[in-house]
Amino acid sequence: MDEKLHDLYEDIVARNPAEGEFHQAVREVFDSLGPVVAKHPHYTDAAIIRRLCEPERQIIFRVPWTDDAGGVQVNRGFRVEFNSALGPYKGGLRFHPSVYLGIVKFLGFEQIFKNALTGLPIGGGKGGADFDPKGRSDNEVMRFCQSFMTELYRHIGEHTDVPAGDIGVGGREIGYLFGQYKRITNRYESGVLTGKGLSWGGSQVRTEATGYGTVYFVSEMLAAMGDSFDGKRVAVSGSGNVAIYAIEKIQQLGGIAVACSDSSGYVVDDNGLDLELLKDVKIKQRGRIADYVQARGRGAELGTAGSIWHVPVDIALPCATQNELDADDAKALIANDCRIVAEGANMPTTPEAIKLFSDAGVRFAPGKAANAGGVATSALEMQQNASRDSWSFDHTEERLAEIMRSIHDRCLHTAEAYGFPGNYTAGANISAFTHVADAMLAQGLI
Ligand code: NDP
Repeated sequence: MDEKLHDLYEDIVARNPAEGEFHQAVREVFDSLGPVVAKHPHYTDAAIIRRLCEPERQIIFRVPWTDDAGGVQVNRGFRVEFNSALGPYKGGLRFHPSVYLGIVKFLGFEQIFKNALTGLPIGGGKGGADFDPKGRSDNEVMRFCQSFMTELYRHIGEHTDVPAGDIGVGGREIGYLFGQYKRITNRYESGVLTGKGLSWGGSQVRTEATGYGTVYFVSEMLAAMGDSFDGKRVAVSGSGNVAIYAIEKIQQLGGIAVACSDSSGYVVDDNGLDLELLKDVKIKQRGRIADYVQARGRGAELGTAGSIWHVPVDIALPCATQNELDADDAKALIANDCRIVAEGANMPTTPEAIKLFSDAGVRFAPGKAANAGGVATSALEMQQNASRDSWSFDHTEERLAEIMRSIHDRCLHTAEAYGFPGNYTAGANISAFTHVADAMLAQGLI
């Protein structure tokens, strides 16, 4: 890391203590910015990087609700409105017991860069709660969402801050959140949330977008290497929204998704996962990965050795959660001749693992580029809401594919221009940073 940036990084760590994930996300960006500050000292003179690391606004609130037994539960809600240089704050809500300020800040910080890469007018933000929807009834989830929105509504709006889903927040939760927003404000403000149902303001392809987009990105990486998905074996971690639609697109493009997982383990299905069965178990029944193995019968097995990354594959797509792929996993993938790792999740690969991939010549795509298709399609949902229009599936998917191609090319060209040929992380960080920094400079000291 450049010396000037190193001092600033130390300051940021001291100023935001005990927020390890946030430090990690900042460090990963700073590692790429040396040549940028050397070439453009005006960014440092205007303290752009220091300003970028300080959220514009951070909201923490109590979320009280009653469970089905009549007991009072209390959770903590968050919304970090990080940067609005390019447009209204935009980023998902995560409901998971591990959520605390450091996680929301790492996600919000990454979101600034990801959103800039889409080329669409959206700023960066993120939110959530330490609520665990797992094992809760629909009514409990509804009461929680209503209480969460009873505070959040005053901070959001179609021109201010537009939340969406993330881990633990899918179509069901967005529905309850939207209903409560409408009830409190007496406004049918479609553009206040994205990921809505198709019959009430949602966009075609939004559900599929993050997984599809990640696979489109990998398809561009393969094309740049003169190759394609045809016959490639792929491991996809997770079995939630991102993972399931990544698997769907891999199959459509001729690849073979042979493994997926959840927090209780992983499954190997050497002939290719049965996607309809997986959807039935994970989406309809909200079941566990072991239920898939049981229903599938012969051919599918629960993994026993190490993690899912020990399964021999050509391509690895971590699509579950942060820091799920560590140095040991990277060594196993490299030993098995894996050629591409692309992050469907946010920051799923540890810095040590990324270094190992780089040393071994494994092509690596960071989440802020590879999984930007979700938020890009959210921005397309906002466009449709603003014009009271609704586009066909094919048209929306074409727009998504075009956006992913443009992000891919932008990363590669920027990396090349700054002396990091083939380094998608450097390309993504530098391209997004300069885009946001120029907008911040133009808008004065705010
Ligand atoms: P879901 O809640 O739909 O699915 C998450 C999946 O990851 C589940 O299979 C879950 O298993 C698994 N998982 C979660 N936490 C852990 C953990 N600690 N250890 C192992 N497995 C875990 O979330 P999404 O698919 O929406 O999100 C997945 C990732 O993609 C996240 O990093 C998210 O930030 C990122 N992302 C999502 C976008 C979207 O549009 N949804 C957009 C861009 C990025 P289990 O059910 O057992 O917990």
